[in-house]
Amino acid sequence: MVAAGSGLGMNLAVPSLAFAQNPSSPEAALRELTAGNQRFTAGRLTAHQHDLDILRQHTIEQQEPFATVLSCADSRVPVELIFDQSIGHIFVTRIAGNFMTPEVIASIEYGAAVLGTKLILVMGHGGCGAVKATIEAKAVPGQISALYSHIQPAVDQAGPDLEAAIRANAQIQAALLRKASTVVSGLVKENKLKVIAAYYALASGSVTLLE
Ligand SMILES: [Zn+2]
Repeated sequence: MVAAGSGLGMNLAVPSLAFAQNPSSPEAALRELTAGNQRFTAGRLTAHQHDLDILRQHTIEQQEPFATVLSCADSRVPVELIFDQSIGHIFVTRIAGNFMTPEVIASIEYGAAVLGTKLILVMGHGGCGAVKATIEAKAVPGQISALYSHIQPAVDQAGPDLEAAIRANAQIQAALLRKASTVVSGLVKENKLKVIAAYYALASGSVTLLE
């Protein structure tokens, strides 16, 4: 039964997460993402039960995502799906190789400072083609090699082992964000925000925290 103490008529159809219990601390945000990923790996997704019409209506004027996720552009890493979330929940920034640029940092800062996200996950994934190509330093068409210089520090640190380099890259980019963004580091100091590196395993669908 949907009692939940809400007398707000139409909100009764909306899962609690959408409004009433939006995670209000970094720890709560991490718990929700972790729980969502466990639902995903267990094949017990709930986000599809959310009433999308109501969520859409409720987020026309404003959004209050509780977490930011920087992920690779890889099609096998559908961020909302793997955390079992819906409209208005995650502020997603994606770029092949999931690394920091001034524009990516600006986007993440907007999520944290303006929208109030409580958690930033910098998430690499198994079999990342961008990291693999950087290791191999392959000749590639067009401007694709522009990705390499951003990922090279991880390869320098971890060597030619792909999985090690992917994990190192997530950790290096998370550290870079903490250092490069005074907005982020300020919120972290106030315990209003956490930055965590993470790794998504394609085969199991599970997300592991790297620190
Ligand atoms: Zn990738």
